[in-house]
Amino acid sequence: MQNREAQIKDLFPNQPDYRYKQIITQLFQVDNKTWNDFTNLPLEMRDELTHKIPFFTVHEDLVQVSQRKDTYKAKLKVDNGESPAFIESVLMLNPRNQWTICVSSQIGCAMACSFCATGKMGLSRNLTDDEIIDQFRFWQHFLIKNPEIPQRISNIVFMGMGEPLANYNNVKSAINSILTHTDLGHTKITVSTVGVIPSLKRILTDPEWPDVRIALSLHSADKQTREDIVPTSFKTFLEDIREWAREYLQKFGNRKHHLTFEYVMLKTVNDTREHATKLANFVKSIGNVKVNLIPYNFIGMEFQSTTPAHMTKFKDYLTDHGVTTTIRKTMGEDIDAACGQLITKNKS
Ligand code: SAH
Repeated sequence: MQNREAQIKDLFPNQPDYRYKQIITQLFQVDNKTWNDFTNLPLEMRDELTHKIPFFTVHEDLVQVSQRKDTYKAKLKVDNGESPAFIESVLMLNPRNQWTICVSSQIGCAMACSFCATGKMGLSRNLTDDEIIDQFRFWQHFLIKNPEIPQRISNIVFMGMGEPLANYNNVKSAINSILTHTDLGHTKITVSTVGVIPSLKRILTDPEWPDVRIALSLHSADKQTREDIVPTSFKTFLEDIREWAREYLQKFGNRKHHLTFEYVMLKTVNDTREHATKLANFVKSIGNVKVNLIPYNFIGMEFQSTTPAHMTKFKDYLTDHGVTTTIRKTMGEDIDAACGQLITKNKS
């Protein structure tokens, strides 16, 4: 199916280019609640749009708020004409008192990481670029309706359901549209990936790939451990990632543009001194890479979380060995909105 921009062009052929751009830009302006609010368009055009093109491709089913009121999770219905399904999208208050949204890129996920709830769903389908864009627009509209909370969305992370680099074209198109039509800059958007090597390589040469931040879900620099917990790992994964990361940093890297390795902390599985040493050595063999340790959010009996005290020790070891390391703050666990907890039931 064509995306919204192409549908608009089909509906109104032979318009000047600025007209299409104007329409899409207005879609991101939150005062516009229906096509009819696009008052700079002739009435007939607004009517056509109203009848032919959905104003939103995602629809609120349920919004939950965490006890601390710093995290909201939306269950959204998507329906691209095939079969209706549900995705989740999360709004999190960041230290600057603005919002970071965590968007989904697929319905379910095919990567089956052993510690992730979404991985247990399997993959239903890719989200369209409009369905990704509309998660951002959904939260914009949500904030306007809740004027007592901060209003600005300052960051977007592709850390919801799905593997964004397994949906390369739609993710790219959504990001480019958001960069063109909003005031969000490149460094405010992060794509998190399990490490889909062909897509990662494509990023290096694709002139249309937006220069946004990449976070790579490494989870272990030990070959066997990574293969045990991330089933998509293959024999030369770590070497391939090292080679790719060096090239990436050569092309995109500067002080503002580092690479991040995410590392979910699983008790005794990947959090020993030996793992820390391997991780430090791996990072140092690459360059400007930061490590973000993620507390494991409970999704089943298979794994236990590393204790906070041990996580600090692991972090200190890395820092002492020259690796910039942060610990991710867990948010929204009381509403199952934390990393790896997003799961929806979809009719097949
Ligand atoms: N497919 C992307 C986005 C996944 S979600 C990726 O693999 O990067 C973002 C991060 O949360 C990833 O690093 C993912 O591995 C991590 N994660 C998954 N399940 C988790 C859990 N139960 N607890 C903590 N982090 C988890």
